[in-house]
Amino acid sequence: MTDILLRGGRPWRLPAPADLLVRDGVIARVGQGLDAGGARVVDVSGRLVLPGLVEAHCHLDKTLYGGAWVPHSADDTLTGRMFNDLGRRAELGVPSVERITALLERMSSFGTTHVRTHTDIDPAVGLRGVEAVGEAAAALTDRISVRQVAFPQHGLLTNPGTAELLEEALKSGVEAIGGIDPAGIDRDPVRHLDTVFELASRYGAAVDIHLHDGGTLGAWELELIIERTAALGLGGRVTVSHAYALGQIDGAHQDRLAKGLAEAGVAVATAAVYSFPVPPVRKLREAGVTVACGHDGIRDLWGPYGSGDMLERAMHLAYRSTFRADADIELALEAATYGGARALGLPGYGLSVGDQADLVVVPVGGAAEAVVAHPPRSLVMKRGVLLSA
Ligand SMILES: [Zn+2]
Repeated sequence: MTDILLRGGRPWRLPAPADLLVRDGVIARVGQGLDAGGARVVDVSGRLVLPGLVEAHCHLDKTLYGGAWVPHSADDTLTGRMFNDLGRRAELGVPSVERITALLERMSSFGTTHVRTHTDIDPAVGLRGVEAVGEAAAALTDRISVRQVAFPQHGLLTNPGTAELLEEALKSGVEAIGGIDPAGIDRDPVRHLDTVFELASRYGAAVDIHLHDGGTLGAWELELIIERTAALGLGGRVTVSHAYALGQIDGAHQDRLAKGLAEAGVAVATAAVYSFPVPPVRKLREAGVTVACGHDGIRDLWGPYGSGDMLERAMHLAYRSTFRADADIELALEAATYGGARALGLPGYGLSVGDQADLVVVPVGGAAEAVVAHPPRSLVMKRGVLLSA
């Protein structure tokens, strides 16, 4: 593998421009005026160098990306979208290895190097989604890393046979288990969460729970998740996705929950889509809570939006959070990079010597501008290999 020297870029959070020497897939040196030796030199003068972008919440198995445009056909309710999904996925060939591949290639072209995707598991689709995502991901392993969450989209307790299939998925190597609205969809939050956490504990899996349940109900479910995370010693391995309730409760209640999430090591992942509530990102970060970011669905039966570009998604998060100051906008970029990496438990992530050389270079001078402008990428590198430059 050829050494590569990125010359003259501005690594994010370093006070001055610096060269990066990449050797054997990792960042070997960082400094000014590095000797190229026999390395291939790539001039990135004045450009922002970021660690690879992290898509922490999407649904690859559902995507229609890469195929013909499919007009949205669900009514405007959550149950309407769920039944539209169940009724039409077979007709539209979902899940499709070809479309998952097309979307992963697009994500990679935007500099996303790691993905966590929630894969539907239910008695009708079985583990076909897990297999389709696995097949697409295996073929692209040199470009993008994919981790799956075994996800009971259509209910866990209310959909007999699903728990057994989730367990099968974990046995087959899926690294995380999901849950969904323990109260709103499954009608029994304690038993739902006990089932999910018991499986996680038994198989050493991470946990990532979709929580749309709002207000004090959702806030109480967050407490149940915090309790179970602490009791089972799963700190750092648990994420709550969406967590709309955090954006709806009063400030004092937010403070208490932020403290509890931070102490237990429970991360929050947000997509900031449509007009749905967004968790208070600045408050969560100040309390020490890991905040990650993702698209949620990308062009699927749940909605037609989504580009696969995590800088654009970070812009939506910043915009929905009413962030205007650079330091605030950078919190959204943090969610799309380091925050996602912490939520996913990625080792060797970052721009320091010894970190895996997953990099993206953007033709802007600073982080806030990268989010607001989300311009075309100048360079993408995965494990020390240039994918585009
Ligand atoms: Zn989702």
